[in-house]
Amino acid sequence: MQTKFLKPFLAKVLFAMLAFFILSCEKESIDTSEPNKSFSLDEAMLYHKLNLPDQNPPQDYKKGILEQKGSLKHTVLWYLATYSATEAYSYYEVPIVFSEIKTPLITTEPKASDFTVIKPILSSSLHRMIIYKDKDGRISRRLVTYVPDIEYLERSKRPDISHNSLKKMDKDFDGYLVYKDWEENTDFILFINKGKPTRKIVPKNSGNSESESIGRITDGNRSPHQKNSQTTYCIQYYEESWVRYCTVRPDEPPTDESCGPWELENTEMIDEVCIDGETTDPCLDPENVGSGDCGSGGSGSGSGSGTGGSTNFYYDPAMVYNSVGDKPIHEFQNKCTGLQFMWNNYTNNEVNGYITSAGNLIVTDILPYSGGAVHGLYEFDGIVYYTWPSSNGQPTVQHPDLIVSGPNYFIPVVASIHTHTPCRNDGTNGVSHSVSSDDKNLASTYPGLNLWVIGCGAIAQYGTGNNFFNVQNGDLSILCNSIQ
Ligand SMILES: [Zn+2]
Repeated sequence: MQTKFLKPFLAKVLFAMLAFFILSCEKESIDTSEPNKSFSLDEAMLYHKLNLPDQNPPQDYKKGILEQKGSLKHTVLWYLATYSATEAYSYYEVPIVFSEIKTPLITTEPKASDFTVIKPILSSSLHRMIIYKDKDGRISRRLVTYVPDIEYLERSKRPDISHNSLKKMDKDFDGYLVYKDWEENTDFILFINKGKPTRKIVPKNSGNSESESIGRITDGNRSPHQKNSQTTYCIQYYEESWVRYCTVRPDEPPTDESCGPWELENTEMIDEVCIDGETTDPCLDPENVGSGDCGSGGSGSGSGSGTGGSTNFYYDPAMVYNSVGDKPIHEFQNKCTGLQFMWNNYTNNEVNGYITSAGNLIVTDILPYSGGAVHGLYEFDGIVYYTWPSSNGQPTVQHPDLIVSGPNYFIPVVASIHTHTPCRNDGTNGVSHSVSSDDKNLASTYPGLNLWVIGCGAIAQYGTGNNFFNVQNGDLSILCNSIQ
């Protein structure tokens, strides 16, 4: 078995080494430090390495090694990474090879495709990882599969489509791009016609709006549910999941010899997508791996002042802290009432909440006794919001600062507060030990938030340092006034 692979394997190693040396000469490619870029390849590699189950010592992160993803092995072809920067991100697009290659075929027929017809499509499909860093320095990653149309493959007369990238697609490229998160949930699909994105599908089970009743096709600012135009028509889409298993070797692309046959794993109904008149969305952007929509607005000039600026408020679900929030568990218009409620009613849990810009208190996380990570924060234009899908329900008290945008509610928050419950039993005041890594992580992500802890007969603030500061002793019914 092994000897059969040996010759092509050696040839490929030689080829890879040659490619490596050629690329190395071109100065841009694998110089991982790249001081002129706001996001170095080195940083991207380290992020990827650190966000995998820990199976190799981190110092191996620059080597082409086999890494696990769940039960799958994978290798990232870092020497082929390309860099790009947009208004919203700096990112690397890099080929990734899994031991189980999954190519989603989007069809409009429920029955399995004719394999002889689709085989060239499956063989030419591309799998890339996008590692991107936003303006606030947060790094995240996506998987993108390029699926070419057969017409494009026939026109271009070659099966290799790897010269296409999110930044620059063939003027002639027809097909679609399937964007998935690292857990391989489909976030959205962009259809590409002659190198330009034309339509977007958001499967109903993707992202955070579980109860959305139909798949959404974006069409400028119009509601996807508006069906009163007589040109509206609806298409039922299906996703066929084709799979094959490959032997993965460090730094090597898969080949037909290293892979088994393609098999249809399952066919899933995605959604009925209704198109209101136009078939082309004027505002789609393949480089926006967060949503596929156009530009971030953001940065430039415009609504710099104050809260809201809801005209170009921009929401990127990929940039929510941990995961999208849930509807607040409790809401109070009197913060002191709320803070005492948090402390008095959960003697066996760490409780987390926020003071909103209007001075209300929302309770958002009931965590284990020893604490945990919070979720649902989102920063835009220097303002931190707590956000949750409107399908989870509307707020129960008046929030004058509430923003409704897209599928979510957003409330600007100015302070985060959580309880340190163990001090009820360990005899400390709850703010004398070292600041936890979850807490430091929050502090480094949102330096503009005031971060407070309620301990036993004491409150205190924390930041990215090891020690709590501004420790105040007394009864919470008085101290609560200091928390803002
Ligand atoms: Zn804490």
